[in-house]
Amino acid sequence: MITLKGKGVCSGIAIGEIEIYRPFIPNISQETIRQEDVPGELQRYEAAMAASCSELSALEALTDTPESSAIISVHLDLLNDPSIDESVRGLITESRFPADRAADLTFEQSAGLLESCGDDILAERAADLRDVKRRFLRNYAGEKEASLSRLSRPVILAAHDLLPSETAVLDRKNVLGIVTEIGGMTSHLAILAKSYDIPAVLGVSGLMESAEEAMPVILNGGDGRVILAPDGDTRRAMEAEQARHLWEKALAAEFMDKPGATADGVPLQLGVNIGSSRPEELEGTERADYVGLFRTEFLYMNSGHMPTEEEQFEAYKKALLFYAPRPVTLRTLDIGGDKSLPYYPLPHEENPFLGCRAFRLCMEHRELFRTQLRAALRASVYGNLWLMIPMIGSLDDIRRAKEALAEVRAELDAERIPYSGDVKFGIMIEVPAIALIADKVAQEVDFASVGTNDLCQYLTAADRGNPGVAQYYQSYHPALFRVLCYVSECFQQAQKPLSVCGELGGDRLAAPVLAGMGFQKLSMPLSSLPYVKQALAGRTMPQLQSLAEAVCASATAEEAENCMR
Ligand code: PEP
Ligand code: MG
Repeated sequence: MITLKGKGVCSGIAIGEIEIYRPFIPNISQETIRQEDVPGELQRYEAAMAASCSELSALEALTDTPESSAIISVHLDLLNDPSIDESVRGLITESRFPADRAADLTFEQSAGLLESCGDDILAERAADLRDVKRRFLRNYAGEKEASLSRLSRPVILAAHDLLPSETAVLDRKNVLGIVTEIGGMTSHLAILAKSYDIPAVLGVSGLMESAEEAMPVILNGGDGRVILAPDGDTRRAMEAEQARHLWEKALAAEFMDKPGATADGVPLQLGVNIGSSRPEELEGTERADYVGLFRTEFLYMNSGHMPTEEEQFEAYKKALLFYAPRPVTLRTLDIGGDKSLPYYPLPHEENPFLGCRAFRLCMEHRELFRTQLRAALRASVYGNLWLMIPMIGSLDDIRRAKEALAEVRAELDAERIPYSGDVKFGIMIEVPAIALIADKVAQEVDFASVGTNDLCQYLTAADRGNPGVAQYYQSYHPALFRVLCYVSECFQQAQKPLSVCGELGGDRLAAPVLAGMGFQKLSMPLSSLPYVKQALAGRTMPQLQSLAEAVCASATAEEAENCMR
């Protein structure tokens, strides 16, 4: 028995046999070709490109989640990128490189540029470029694709790495779990595993050395353990844990269609967080009372180009129509920090989370903000739009955001373009400085929503994405609960709507505490809804109020957690 450790990115226990995935390895010629062979080589290049495009189009038809089809569409964009085409053709005709060498050089140069930015998300885009390159090289070599879209039996997939396009077409009913040597929390693979709800452990070093074909394996997507060739006792213990996990899931599922309320019938509005308005992503979310967070940056990140006003308008209109008359809280662009756009390089910053991020970036790049506000306001006639600005740190910021909105309204008026007169204006509370003047903020906005993910990182001074300081990023730190309690009191006093849309809102231990503090709205990923409904239904409001008091009076995160448990 060998136990390896990685990063658990999607919880659940998977027990099964390993299937090792070994992709095509190209053998690139380093020769040059003769001048008279150039036209023939250009034809070979075009044929391999066309074959790659038609493979991707066929894959697009097979995909069934927004994340996977977004990846395929980015790959199609990359493959059809005119600058790549121009460079490859130039190398074939002028330097007389064979097409594989020319494509390898071109794609590698672009990928290297992205990687040198020292940014995780751009590095992921470099992985997309290499994925596209490998597809081209395989077609150039005339080899068939080793596809993961049809597996003969249920297995746990093990690989050095799984490329986005490979994962996007996964034969999901036969994949019990995923384990790789490469990848982390923000990788495409992690996002896809979560959206497929497949237990996954990534970043397991030494995996490919120890794993063998058809070897029995257990992986725990919660704590990141991967046990190869488990002994009988370990297997029995993990089977019991798996059964407990599935039993809890089934119990909670019964609450999915019940309204959110405490045991003594105090109603709560429970919302859903979304990242797009594609039908696959919206499916099932109609059970939510509202959309508490539409992370619009995914629209930008999943595209190969800056989304136009028209593209954004269509996306926002779809979401507004789908939920009308329920509110859709559309968060304006939250780029910077750990999120970036491959086609819109930003200057390097020493501390990007403390830098020109989200609203600050929109103030520097007014055109981006203006386009988004125009699209959102135009879409507002189709439903109930609540517009929310992230990373607000002062009343000056609030006023600047309002001015920008007023300018866009005036522009639309001048162009006689209709928009709703009832769009709500709100902010995210995720910077401690704004949380501590919540009484003043409540006078300035129609609503607010607390982003506990960032509020926690700024309060504890611990980077939310850095595993090296994970022990300092304490989501149950009593300071965070005290700040939340203060914000809740201010908004209750002002009688303005207040929500939580960070992870804490969908945390089955913390959500009842937030309800006890007076939060009447909580927004979360769809998969958390049944657990939160179940947790709220288990206690009366007076019990939750005492719980909230005890949690705020705790001295440590551990003490707070013990109260909640
Ligand atoms: C948050 O910070 O809590 C939040 C909801 O925003 P994001 O996680 O997208 O930064
Ligand atoms: Mg945030």
